[in-house]
Amino acid sequence: MANSTHTPAERAHRTIHAGGEWLAASSGATREILDPADAVAFAVVAEGDEKDTDLAVAAARRAFDAGDWPHTPVAERAALLRRVAGLLVRDRETLGLLESRDAGKTVEEGRVDIDCVADAFRYFADLVAGEAPGRVVDAGSPEVHSVVVHEPVGVCAMITPWNYPLLQASWKIAPALAAGNTFVIKPSEITPMTTIALIDLLVEAGLPTGVANIVTGPGHTVGARLAEHPDVDLVSFTGGLTSGVKVAQAAAVTVKKVALELGGKNPNVVFADACATEEGFDTAVDQALNAAFMHSGQVCSAGGRLIVEESVRERFVAELARRAERIRLGRGTEEGVECGPLVSAQQRAKTEDYVASALAEGAELRCGGKRPEPSPQRPESGYFYEPTVLDHCHREMRVVREEVFGPVLTVETFRTEDEAVALANDTEYGLAGAVWTADAGRARRVAGRLRHGTVWINDFHPYLPQAEWGGFGKSGVGRELGPAGLAEYRESKHVYQNLAPKPVRWFSG
Ligand code: NAD
Repeated sequence: MANSTHTPAERAHRTIHAGGEWLAASSGATREILDPADAVAFAVVAEGDEKDTDLAVAAARRAFDAGDWPHTPVAERAALLRRVAGLLVRDRETLGLLESRDAGKTVEEGRVDIDCVADAFRYFADLVAGEAPGRVVDAGSPEVHSVVVHEPVGVCAMITPWNYPLLQASWKIAPALAAGNTFVIKPSEITPMTTIALIDLLVEAGLPTGVANIVTGPGHTVGARLAEHPDVDLVSFTGGLTSGVKVAQAAAVTVKKVALELGGKNPNVVFADACATEEGFDTAVDQALNAAFMHSGQVCSAGGRLIVEESVRERFVAELARRAERIRLGRGTEEGVECGPLVSAQQRAKTEDYVASALAEGAELRCGGKRPEPSPQRPESGYFYEPTVLDHCHREMRVVREEVFGPVLTVETFRTEDEAVALANDTEYGLAGAVWTADAGRARRVAGRLRHGTVWINDFHPYLPQAEWGGFGKSGVGRELGPAGLAEYRESKHVYQNLAPKPVRWFSG
């Protein structure tokens, strides 16, 4: 909190940053931030509303229209992003711990998240620094000089979810700043802490006043206002499908640019040949476990839908359930804990509802399906839920069709490659999917036929900042990361210069 003029106690609920000032909500409202491991508040933030949002947008507008940032040389912008990456590395422990408490993930996951955030800042710094300033177009005449240049879009609104609070924020903030935009971010109202801390780091790194603004508060007020605001040029949203549709509808009225990163219902397709050796079997089971239960399944690309070849199903599911039962649940900050709680009571209730509906529809419970016994690492007040494997599922079940966003794995089977592909593509989403096979030809064939934005072959979950991330179908619009993730934050401008102007005489009079 280096740049704050307030002591930590005074600063407590001054979490709205507009035009360089840390402010309380204009209404005076506050919100307690709960640790999902025990439901005890560990911080208080400002509960902003439309008025606070207008203030922050006005600051971002001024900084864009009258400030230096959009015109700052690319090398200086890149240098600033690299300084931010350095500060993230410096504060890795504190931020990793904060992310763990806020979102319920293990501290180790929190630290990895911060590494990935720093990577995003470095990647976009390198990308802009290495680019040509424009693209000369052959106009077909020596008397014309024609060039396409990139300019920032303007004021960007960013709305982010609670599962990867700082990582999702960085996939928006880093390219937006690299391109010369100003922004207002609204983190999830239940996990705002690391995004607030990042604003301090941006200021410490030397970002000019008004370029980075944050409003903490709910989606239906702050988020909705950002999406409809006439002075916002672009809205980039990551979150659920229902909210994403509302954001797109609100943004349409002022014809903003819209980027949406929404949910997924991600298939993990396992062919029997991947399990032909003990090592292959162990790897495929281990990664299926990781795909489904990492961060308690609260991952947009979670492999919550296992589609396994019939002949290996029994052995595969038995081993998966055996290992799922042994996952050590507890407070993410405790040593030895492998999985934290769900983020909120609401998220756990939603998960419980999906499991109940699956059982009512005929699924077989192989493990989990309940809250764990309380223990010193798992207070009863925490939002814990056991990793759950549901066998004998089919595509008509709600739990197979809809995103659960909890530690629930459904099992379906197939006999042929065509059947596997048809099942994997039978979703309204299209974010990510994996295929496990020892047959290189089949791997490429199936990967080519999957209608998902990321396809893993014999792996699950890795992503690269250099490679675009985003979804087919209702998983979203646009891409984050990679060159396309930078292009989202840019306008192209064609500058056509006639070097020897003369009358055209189109009109004779
Ligand atoms: P959510 O849609 O409930 O909330 C996301 C954000 O939108 C929050 O900041 C929320 O306050 C805000 N919001 C809610 N209603 C709004 C409205 N009407 N107008 C504007 N903003 C509004 O999602 P969540 O529960 O926070 O996150 C989980 C979802 O995010 C899952 O569906 C997950 O798949 C998705 N997600 C996707 C990706 C991806 O890269 N595709 C990454 C992470 C999470």
